[in-house]
Amino acid sequence: MEISVSLPLDEGFLRRECPSCERQFKWFNGDTDNKPEDAEAVERYYCPYCGEPAAPDSWWTPEQLEYVQKIGLNAVTRRVRDELGDSMRALEKTGLLSVSLEGGDASDPAPISEPQDMVMVEPPCHYYEPIKIAEDWTEPVHCIVCGRAYVI
Ligand SMILES: [Zn+2]
Ligand SMILES: [Zn+2]
Repeated sequence: MEISVSLPLDEGFLRRECPSCERQFKWFNGDTDNKPEDAEAVERYYCPYCGEPAAPDSWWTPEQLEYVQKIGLNAVTRRVRDELGDSMRALEKTGLLSVSLEGGDASDPAPISEPQDMVMVEPPCHYYEPIKIAEDWTEPVHCIVCGRAYVI
């Protein structure tokens, strides 16, 4: 079964958290219009703050992880309860078994909100990968594609 979870974006930007320094930034979700056709595939992204690389799927914020896990768990819980319910009812009809199914609350968590904060910067080396970084960041920023530091 497929579970789709949608996360809120800030004008196309998705909030991310560095697994090394735990600072947050936002990267553009998907491709920008001016991304060249021959742009290299990215196997790892670099943190704009500390410059540490990590795999593309390791940048979840704790809030996003919790949200995605809850939605996934709820979908599984509902599915199991439905299927178990059917077979239980069949058994009950035989009179051999009496069961009551008590489930926890499987309603989905409230969607997380994404404020329009941070400032957008475009790396000179990979201009098609803009990011948003904390307003108070004054040190050089690393390009998330190649890790090169640049001054803003
Ligand atoms: Zn970092
Ligand atoms: Zn770059």
